[in-house]
Amino acid sequence: MAGKKNRSKGKKKGPAQNLADLPSQMVYPHLHGRVVEALLPDVLDPEPWFVHEPGTRENRKETFIVGRFSCPNQSCRKAGWTTGKVCIHITSYANSGYRAIVWSQRCKLCDTMGILALDEQSYIDRVAFRLKKWAGLVVPAVPYVKRGTPPHLSDFCEACIAGFCERGVLSLSTSMNALRLG
Ligand SMILES: [Zn+2]
Ligand SMILES: [Zn+2]
Repeated sequence: MAGKKNRSKGKKKGPAQNLADLPSQMVYPHLHGRVVEALLPDVLDPEPWFVHEPGTRENRKETFIVGRFSCPNQSCRKAGWTTGKVCIHITSYANSGYRAIVWSQRCKLCDTMGILALDEQSYIDRVAFRLKKWAGLVVPAVPYVKRGTPPHLSDFCEACIAGFCERGVLSLSTSMNALRLG
């Protein structure tokens, strides 16, 4: 999968072995019900549904949500980091299908993939806003949460590493191949 580089150089000591299996992208289909609630009072017809097996996409939007990562490497002294720049790709499919992929980030001290505690409300707000936009509704923009979080570290952001986010340089078709693997 794109975004999964061979990082054998960064061999961890101790019990870090199975940390290599932590995902670079996550999906949160269990938040779908709350996304639909957040559409109210608007009711989209057909009602949006979360796509598990992506087919041909119709639209895609890259944006950011808020979250806190923790470093699961017990031999690392970094507890975690909060960021307003967790990259999310929202994609629409036929018949109101959609899918949202959230990209992980790595610990800047030890390069282990972080574990994300998502700010669920920011996810719900972003996705609901985008679904309404795509449905042609006029909706006020959801303001970005401005927090004093440190600058975005592209070298440790899986979306940037895959060529999206602040390093969005790949062509769309190449990008979509990476997305399909979510
Ligand atoms: Zn760490
Ligand atoms: Zn990034």
